[in-house]
Amino acid sequence: MTSRYRRKPRRRWPRIAAPLTDIGAALDDAACIGMAPLFDLDVFGEDPEQREARHHRGVGVCRVCPVMGRCSAAAENLGDQAQGIWAGHLRTPTELQEGVSCS
Ligand code: SF4
Repeated sequence: MTSRYRRKPRRRWPRIAAPLTDIGAALDDAACIGMAPLFDLDVFGEDPEQREARHHRGVGVCRVCPVMGRCSAAAENLGDQAQGIWAGHLRTPTELQEGVSCS
């Protein structure tokens, strides 16, 4: 057996780990910390009016967020993985597929 077969395989983190870590650091001062359900695309059991009211409250939090620009950039980098309220915009699968601005 040669030495190249004795080498331990390199441990590799999943590709998504680094970008999410970077996003977490960029959004350290986010106004939404601890308010995650407010920004989710859907919450089980809520009706359309409740969802709209919840999203409206989320957008209101975004308006005073000090890292809104970084949040917008992070959402663009994540693409269709960023759904729900990001940087004051509702990002839905349909709008992301069509490339429609969701303000
Ligand atoms: S802009 Fe909105 S979604 Fe983005 S970090 Fe700030 S509060 Fe959270």
